[in-house]
Amino acid sequence: MARRVESARGSMPLSELLERKEARAMSSFGVKDLDTMLRFAPRRYTVPAPLRSLHDVQVGEEMSAIVSVVRVKERSMRSRRGSILEVVVSDEVEEITLTFFLAKQHLVDWHRSRLVVGKHLVVRGTVGWNSYSGSPQITHPDYEEYDDTPEGIAHAQRPLPVYPLKQNIAQRTMRAATEQGIEFAGSLAQPVPGSVLSARGLLTLPQAVTKVHVPATVQDTREGMAHLVFEEAFVLQAIFAQRRAVDARTPAPALRATGPLQDLFDDRLPFELTAGQLEIGDQLAEHVGRDHPTSVLLQGDVGSGKTVIALRAMLRAVDSGHQAVLLAPTEVLAEQHHRTITQLLGDLARAGQLDGAADATRVRLLTGSQRTAERRQTLLDVTSGLAGIVIGTHALLTEGVEFAALGLAVIDEQHRFGVDHRRRLRTKGPSGMSPHVVVMTATPIPRTAALATVGDLDVLTLRESPGMRAGVTTHVVPEQNSRWETRMWGRAAEEIAAGRQVFVVCARIDETGAGEGSPPPEAPPEQLPPTPDADGGGAAPRLEEARGVLATAERLAGRPELAGARIGVLHGRMPSEDKQRVMEDMLAGRIDILVATTVIEVGVDIPNASTMIVLDAERFGVSQLHQLRGRVGRGEHAGIAFLSTRLTPGDARSRLEQIAGAADGFALAEIDLETRGAGDLVGEEQSGLQRTLKHLDVIRDARIIEQAREDAFAVVAADPDLTAHPDLAGAIENRLRDADPDVERS
Ligand code: ADP
Ligand code: MG
Repeated sequence: MARRVESARGSMPLSELLERKEARAMSSFGVKDLDTMLRFAPRRYTVPAPLRSLHDVQVGEEMSAIVSVVRVKERSMRSRRGSILEVVVSDEVEEITLTFFLAKQHLVDWHRSRLVVGKHLVVRGTVGWNSYSGSPQITHPDYEEYDDTPEGIAHAQRPLPVYPLKQNIAQRTMRAATEQGIEFAGSLAQPVPGSVLSARGLLTLPQAVTKVHVPATVQDTREGMAHLVFEEAFVLQAIFAQRRAVDARTPAPALRATGPLQDLFDDRLPFELTAGQLEIGDQLAEHVGRDHPTSVLLQGDVGSGKTVIALRAMLRAVDSGHQAVLLAPTEVLAEQHHRTITQLLGDLARAGQLDGAADATRVRLLTGSQRTAERRQTLLDVTSGLAGIVIGTHALLTEGVEFAALGLAVIDEQHRFGVDHRRRLRTKGPSGMSPHVVVMTATPIPRTAALATVGDLDVLTLRESPGMRAGVTTHVVPEQNSRWETRMWGRAAEEIAAGRQVFVVCARIDETGAGEGSPPPEAPPEQLPPTPDADGGGAAPRLEEARGVLATAERLAGRPELAGARIGVLHGRMPSEDKQRVMEDMLAGRIDILVATTVIEVGVDIPNASTMIVLDAERFGVSQLHQLRGRVGRGEHAGIAFLSTRLTPGDARSRLEQIAGAADGFALAEIDLETRGAGDLVGEEQSGLQRTLKHLDVIRDARIIEQAREDAFAVVAADPDLTAHPDLAGAIENRLRDADPDVERS
């Protein structure tokens, strides 16, 4: 897309402004050149203590004063290497000593060069007491030259930026460096065109960074930051605008045919489509009917019936002479989709077979662990075009599978797929055409957050769920409380006695093995539960207790409440046939309790399951927990979910309580946004773009995001290659590289 622009103007390396060591310290937190340094926002500002006379200072107090240098004395330290620099300063009435302990001679020289006798300074620091001399002193004060004019006085009292630094560099070094850098602010790349800035009443970049780093007033800092926030939103929206511009130039098969498969399918559905499904279905049909590839995000709560909508669009592709593919994040889910779709289609899915319907097509499953013969047949059908509908895991993408005429790709549960997958899908269309792409997610993203996160997708939202869903009640169960725990298993036993089934989800497979392949992207970092010793339970063994799938299954077999229950296990490291068999047993009711990892998280549909027990619930992300509890209450029976945790009441546990209390995915998405930012709600690359946001807050800055979007789309529409906007093109390139350094862009 964008040509490789090695940044329109190379940013000035910090080595030109700073000592090597300081430059290296800054690069350790991402400040690597003038460009990043001047965009590195202070965490807050301190307003210096008011200027006062030395006569009034008190030991232990923060002070600032205007003084001049009277004497400078240097002596070596007694106990270690280095020097003590003592500088006596006076405000014409009183004197005070500034003391510096300096390990290196070059530092002594540096201070001496600035602390020349007679020079006027503003000094800031905390007053201490020198017990040798019996007089007050300030150790390692902040100081700067003072200019005795109204501007000088104001400058001396300005708010001082406090940067989010690491230990390896001092605030004052950072301040000095940015102040120096500001002299070169005119050389910075300026991604936002001047006309946009003036229309929005924003400062120019040099003005803005001056106000951010050397503000005269607190109001200045706000005006300065407003530019940086807008700039970030603008560059992000320009990325989305460019992607859409590329789509608008790419041909796609227009999937416009109606019937026969679509109509036959609708006639056979065992239920009525809801008004929402029909409406979203129509919108989707309009999208895939275009001559250019669309990227649609189809969002709706778990169980809202997205699959049927997608399936109807896929049949439209087949009716239009093309193929459709459905990608699932796990084999279990791919197999389930294959089962339901084949079932729903009936003889419509049996083309070429004796009992196949006249207009039938073939539905093929392709996963990584299929047998060779089966695979070969599938691949043949895919390449020849006989298979109108192909279902599989992303193995489908990685193995050079060639489609005869791919018109539509549907990705289920998008947060498991990256933009890389989407890009690869885009190349699988027939003769230079790009298929349409629909991604489905059960964690809906609120509108403004969607603009900032998946702004290159058109969002269609399914608001209602089919009425037959009985719904789920969620409880947080503190594991320390054995009465509650007993009650929880007791409840599970009651459900089993009533003929229902139970899921038990563990964070890992066994004690030695970690999790399930790569950790799910939204899993929070390992939080160690508090030790139970804290509440006097004196139980190291409790902590050692079995937590994995296999050990948990054993432990449950020994619980008296569950005596006689048929317990099955399911995890990602089982052979494919075993997994399939367990799912079939579960579906057929031959298993009462399925102990599993998160393989069952996404989309698994067992209508008779009524109870979901998540152990170590704090180890799961918000959307994951929502997905998990969405596995029950799917049929006519009300569901119960238990989030079992060893956490004691506190922040992390209140997150669980919030999840338990949230009515649906929409409410949860808000919680997730507030607590953790938008990164977890969206796919890999968008989350890269999100993670690397420095100034923008997708909730607080909703209005700015909308304005920036309008402006960026207008700029890109007028100049799609950004030939007249090299600084913007460079900023986009940098942004994409930072967000996803491994991906080679084309
Ligand atoms: P999700 O949006 O979570 O992917 P599904 O598409 O898996 O939801 O649908 C959940 C269940 O509801 C499935 O068993 C599906 O067959 C059923 N379903 C879908 N639409 C309707 C409807 N209009 N009326 C009744 N049941 C429906
Ligand atoms: Mg689904």
